[in-house]
Amino acid sequence: MMLQYFERLASRLDGKIKMDPDKPNARRKFALEIAKLGTRLYSGEHRVAWCGVPAPFDMLSAMNITSCFVEFVGAMLASTGTVATFMEESEHGGFGADTCGYHRAVIGAAMKGLMPVPDVMVATTSPCTGGLAAMENLARMFDKEMFVLDVPHSDTPASVQYLANQYKDMFRFISSRTGETLDEDKLREAIVKSNRARELMVEVFRLAQNVPSPANGQSLANFGIVMALFLGTDAAIEIAQAYKDEFEEMIQNGESGVPEEQVRLLWLQNRIQFKNPLIRMLEQEYKAAVVIDELNDITWDPIDPADPFTGIAKRTITIPFNGEVNRRLNHVRHLATVYKVDGTVNPCHWGCRQGTGARGLLQAGLKELGIPVVNLEVDCVDTRNFAEGQLKTRLEAFMEMLRTKPSPQRA
Ligand code: SF4
Repeated sequence: MMLQYFERLASRLDGKIKMDPDKPNARRKFALEIAKLGTRLYSGEHRVAWCGVPAPFDMLSAMNITSCFVEFVGAMLASTGTVATFMEESEHGGFGADTCGYHRAVIGAAMKGLMPVPDVMVATTSPCTGGLAAMENLARMFDKEMFVLDVPHSDTPASVQYLANQYKDMFRFISSRTGETLDEDKLREAIVKSNRARELMVEVFRLAQNVPSPANGQSLANFGIVMALFLGTDAAIEIAQAYKDEFEEMIQNGESGVPEEQVRLLWLQNRIQFKNPLIRMLEQEYKAAVVIDELNDITWDPIDPADPFTGIAKRTITIPFNGEVNRRLNHVRHLATVYKVDGTVNPCHWGCRQGTGARGLLQAGLKELGIPVVNLEVDCVDTRNFAEGQLKTRLEAFMEMLRTKPSPQRA
């Protein structure tokens, strides 16, 4: 089912891009690469690693391993509208209904035999212990050993070294299970490509800050987190270049992502992964643009290709979702300021300590900047818990309040 879905999607997107070859086609190129990754994961023709969210995907691709974080599958099942059956499968199998929907979905998919058995598994202790627990359960189901990257919380030279050393152990683990070795030249080449994609993504995010923004509620949805999967490859460079070209062209032509943009919004953490009318309602009824997602930022320095382990360890440790909540709060406040947002939407994802647990601190921290937050009670993956009417009413009330309030960011 999943293989056919991804193959069909790739072929459709490829056809559309070919019909309009002179356009940057940024979102289509991004979606095409997602479809190609899905095809590789499900085809049975590639060595596959199921991983935690901040695994070093550029390093794994240098080893010829098709790798992906397991939450990707949960998001894909939600986007295809088929997730409920997998949720029920995991819940009937005894997995708690109050845990993160990404993990319930993927466990349900594995129980139904819809997750490819991986060659290796690389779990991470960040950004959540729920992810680690899901990986442990998957490892048991697949009867696979799992390598765990213990990501330290503090950004100190000793912590960076501690994680960098684990990457060396990880390679030995993967080599012993797959026979793939790490070619130092290939790794260097991958790091050069990651750095180039990083440079372009910095430009894309800088362009999105423009008032009015070339970004709309859909153009950069899930961009930052999924682009991590393509780092180290030409695809990441091509996608980032297409976005840069598209946004530059729009700004030059005086076009904005949401025509006559009136309200600028920051979206915290994850998007709602299944089809829903909320973004369209914000754009059409309030000319409100989601100009920035919390996960769409570059928070790491270029990596020295001669010393990749240290640079990648630092990149992993310094992601805002790792460590104390203050790191995340400072990052969110920075984004709200540079993107000149009027308000913030926080989908407090059911079962997630980052999504629901930090809501009070984030709300208070943004309030100090004069930026209101609307907290939505939502499960970003589970369609069964989507209270459309209630959510629309809350957003409508929030937008009416923003309309009457002068924006401190634009003053
Ligand atoms: S949404 Fe929260 S619980 Fe789920 S994978 Fe992300 S950080 Fe973990």
